[in-house]
Amino acid sequence: MISKILIANRGEIALRVLRACKELGIATVAVHSTADADAMHVRLADESVCIGPPPSRDSYLNIHQIVAACEITGADAVHPGYGFLSENAKFADILDAHDITFIGPTAEHIRIMGDKITAKKTAQELGIPVVPGSDGEVKPENALEVARKIGFPVLIKATAGGGGRGMKVARSEADLEEAVSTARAEALAAFGNDAVYMEKYLGKPRHIEIQIVGDGAGNAVHLGERDCSLQRRHQKVWEEANSPALNVDQRMKIGQICADAMKKLKYRGAGTIEFLYENGEFYFIEMNTRLQVEHPITEAITGIDLVHEQIRVASGGGLSVKQEDIVFSGHAIECRINAEDPRTFVPSPGTITHFHAPGGLGVRVDSGAYQGYRIPPYYDSLIGKLIVHGRTRVECMMRLRRVLDEFVIDGIKTTLPLFQDLINNQDIANGDYDIHWLEKHLAATSE
Ligand code: ADP
Repeated sequence: MISKILIANRGEIALRVLRACKELGIATVAVHSTADADAMHVRLADESVCIGPPPSRDSYLNIHQIVAACEITGADAVHPGYGFLSENAKFADILDAHDITFIGPTAEHIRIMGDKITAKKTAQELGIPVVPGSDGEVKPENALEVARKIGFPVLIKATAGGGGRGMKVARSEADLEEAVSTARAEALAAFGNDAVYMEKYLGKPRHIEIQIVGDGAGNAVHLGERDCSLQRRHQKVWEEANSPALNVDQRMKIGQICADAMKKLKYRGAGTIEFLYENGEFYFIEMNTRLQVEHPITEAITGIDLVHEQIRVASGGGLSVKQEDIVFSGHAIECRINAEDPRTFVPSPGTITHFHAPGGLGVRVDSGAYQGYRIPPYYDSLIGKLIVHGRTRVECMMRLRRVLDEFVIDGIKTTLPLFQDLINNQDIANGDYDIHWLEKHLAATSE
């Protein structure tokens, strides 16, 4: 059994994990950099340890300090949240060597899914549909032959990729040589590894991802999908569950394929299998072996607390639900509230002079922000998430409109006005958008 969890993260996700621990009667340890001494999760935790100066590499990514904080406080488990050390296999190994439970999958599964080529190969072996593409790495001298086989347009992607870097489209044979060489150069600069592979480039896909949870002993369930097509520079902005593009049969079919794959893998913990979806077909792009930012919309429509499930399976308690018990009820939308200019997306750190969060039925605000809170400039700009649930998509959208009018955050710029714009847009009302929609919309409406 787990009795004390150290939360190796900050911001809204540290607070969210802390809430789950408290509900399960588990003691909590917050860790923080000197810039986060005033953070809400630090105030609410049973104990807290300062693990270093503001830069992430000296604090939230400092494995020595985090292990030392576990030893000092007697924490017997670590929840990594998302980002930072959540997909670091070495961290999982080190905790294991110290007899501290990592609340997440095995280091082996983190490694498999962390490399794009092995991830894709593994997904295919497990029966998950993948994007047609090269069989592993592509060298410049074979690029033309491989591209002709796949058919143009093709996408060159970095094996070690992340955040959309090292990714280039070649629309025809004439573009290919340059696309391959720039993708390799970008990959080398960003990841220290210039290996690339090739995929068919899909023109107008949606981003649809399936939430799964496994117990590590061969049981796994899926909790339906999230549609995260509204993105800017590959960053998700607005997510919804269910997807406006899928019907029940499609949902249950792809969900079952993913759950069956995770059973075969004996996957432990929460995970997300990401797909591009076009013309009724799903194409695997990657798997995230952690909790996602947008997990609350899944919680809203299933009533299942994903962090509770993560903690249960990490302590050997198994899943709390069977697939047949999972009911998808209503519709949920999440808006990511960033401390950024809503048009230019330039970060806007500073002090929040007034903060009023909305309330009422079907409204959840996950945020560590409060009046007088000073947003440190060192970390990502997500300061909160607004999650709204309704019995239907229409009810959810009506509620979201009301809730956006109530939300007040003064003193800094936020992305709230962007959502005011989207909620009044006809394409959004119709659920008619793909992964390029938001950037086109922003370009078309900028002066
Ligand atoms: P990263 O890890 O760099 O974020 P992903 O493989 O997750 O890379 O892809 C990021 C985004 O790039 C996707 O959400 C999608 O917008 C686009 N993308 C990836 N693969 C393809 C493809 N084969 N065709 C079209 N767009 C793609």
